[in-house]
Amino acid sequence: MALKTPEEFETSLRTRSPKVFMNGKRVESIFENPNTRTVLESNKASYRWALDPEYSKIMTCHSPLVNDTVNRYTHVSSSVEDLVAKAEAGTFTAENLGTCIYRCAGYDAFHSLAATTWEMDRDLGTKYHHRFLDYLKMVQIEDLSVAGALTEPRGHRMKRAIDWPDPYLALKVIEKNSKGIVVRGAKINISGAYACHELVVLPQGTRTEEEADYALAFAVPSDADGITYVCQYSPYSAERDLAEDLHELGNPVFGQRETAMVVFDNVFVPWERVFHCGETPYSWNLVSRFARTHRMTCGGTCKVGFMNQIIGACKLIQEYKGLELVPHINEELTEMIVLRETGRACGLAAARLGTEDPVGSGVFLPDELMGNVSKLNIGNAFWRVMALAGDIGGGLIVTMPSLKELKNPETKRYVEEFFSFGSDSPTEDILKTHKLLQNWTAGQHGVGTWHGAGPVMAQKIMIERIADFEHEKNLVRKLLNLKGTS
Ligand SMILES: Cc1cc2nc3c(=O)[nH]c(=O)nc-3n(C[C@H](O)[C@H](O)[C@H](O)COP(=O)(O)OP(=O)(O)OC[C@H]3O[C@@H](n4cnc5c(N)ncnc54)[C@H](O)[C@@H]3O)c2cc1C
Repeated sequence: MALKTPEEFETSLRTRSPKVFMNGKRVESIFENPNTRTVLESNKASYRWALDPEYSKIMTCHSPLVNDTVNRYTHVSSSVEDLVAKAEAGTFTAENLGTCIYRCAGYDAFHSLAATTWEMDRDLGTKYHHRFLDYLKMVQIEDLSVAGALTEPRGHRMKRAIDWPDPYLALKVIEKNSKGIVVRGAKINISGAYACHELVVLPQGTRTEEEADYALAFAVPSDADGITYVCQYSPYSAERDLAEDLHELGNPVFGQRETAMVVFDNVFVPWERVFHCGETPYSWNLVSRFARTHRMTCGGTCKVGFMNQIIGACKLIQEYKGLELVPHINEELTEMIVLRETGRACGLAAARLGTEDPVGSGVFLPDELMGNVSKLNIGNAFWRVMALAGDIGGGLIVTMPSLKELKNPETKRYVEEFFSFGSDSPTEDILKTHKLLQNWTAGQHGVGTWHGAGPVMAQKIMIERIADFEHEKNLVRKLLNLKGTS
C-alpha cells in the first residue's frame, strides 16, 4: 500500500531543504520554527487519518492509476461519488484542523491538469497527458504532499502582462532547451508549499498569442534550486513566536492558514515535469477548471468545517454563561446553522451535479455554476457567522487576558474568580474557548475566506458568463404563447 506513516512523511520532508524566510530572517528549520511547524502538523494529520481505520474511508480511495489505495488528496475524481467524497473530506479536515490541509490546492490543480492536458493532447497532438499521469503515479506511489500555485503578483490590472514594465510580475519562461525550461517570476499567497514535497504550478491570466511565455504549467520539488519562500507574518505569527506553551494560543497545534510568496529565480524544470508551455488558448481552461474545483472546496466544504468550530465554541460559551434559554442567542445559533447548511448544500450540489469534463477525459469536475455559487455564498456567510459569534462571545473575545495569567501566582486567583462566569467549568476552559473565537473572529479568517479561491467579484463574473437564460425565457414564451423572436 502506497501510504506513508506520519513519521515517514516528516522524515521524507527532512531530505528537502527549502530556502524559507520569515519576519526578516532565514528560517533555519521549518521543523523547529513554531509557525512553519503548524503547516507540517496539518499535513501530518492527513497521513495519520489515512492509516486510522476510523477515518481511512474519508482520507483514502482506490486509484485505478496505480491499482492501489492512495491518499484521497492525490486522486483525480473519476465519478460523482469521488466528488462527493472529496467534498466530505474537505469538511472533515477543516473541522478537525481549523486551518488548511495544505495538500488541498495541489489536489484541485491535479483535476485541472488531468482534464486540460488530455484536452491539449486531443486537440494539438501534444504529449502532456501521459507526462502528467506519470507524475501523478509518482505522487501516489510515494504518497507526496503537493501544494498548488496559481496566484501571481501581477502588474497594472488593466494592462496585459506584455505591457508591464517588469515582465516578471507573472511567471515567465526565459529559456527553453533540449532538457527543459527555465522560469522566472513569483507566485504569491501560496498555502503551505515549503512543508510539501512538491509544487504544481498553473498559469494565471494568459490569453493572447503574445503572452505565450506566460502560458505555463509544471511541477517542481519544493526545494528546487532558485526557489525562495518569503512567508506571511502577522500579529498571530508574533504571538506564536513568543508563546511559552502552545495552549495559550487560539489554535494550538495547527495555527493560522500559512502562506508564502514563492520566488522562482531562474528555476530549471525538466520537460518530463512540464504540462503546458505556450499553448495560450488552454491557459484559461487550466485556470477555470482549477477555479471550478477549488471554489467547491473553499466555498462548500472547508468553510463548513470552520463554521463547525465557531458554532461549537459559541454553544459552549452560551452554556458557560447560563444563556441556554435566551431567545436571541438561540436564534443566532440557528442562523449560524442555516448559513453552514447553505454552504454545505452548495458544496454537495456542486459535487452531485459534477460532470466529466472534457467528455471522454475520465475527469470529473464539480458543477461550475454551483461551485461558484458556493464560494460566493460563503464569502458573505462567513463574515455573518463571525459577527454572530462576536455577539455571543462578548467583548472578552478581544479583551481577554493571556492564558499565562493562570500560571502567575499574583493574578491567577483574580482571573479564575472573575472570568469563571460563576460556572462549574474550569476558567482555563472558558478562556481557551474565547481564545479560539478570537482566532476566528478577530484575526485573518474573514479576509482569508473572502479572497482564498478568488474574491466575490470573480465568482460574479463567472456566474454571468455561464448563465444561460434560454430555459427561463422559454418558460415565459411557452406560458404566454409569445410570438416574437426576442
Ligand atoms: C489564506 C489564503 C490562501 C491562499 N492560498 C493560495 C494557494 O494555495 N494557491 C494560490 O494560487 N493562491 C492562493 N491564494 C490566493 C487567492 O486565490 C487570491 O488571494 C485571490 O485570487 C485574490 O487575489 P489577490 O489577493 O491578488 O487580490 P486582488 O486580485 O488584488 O483583489 C483585490 C480587489 O481588486 C479587484 N480586482 C483585482 N483585479 C481586478 C481586475 N482586473 N478588474 C477588476 N477588479 C479587479 C478584486 O475583485 C478585489 O475586489 C490564497 C489566498 C488566501 C487569502
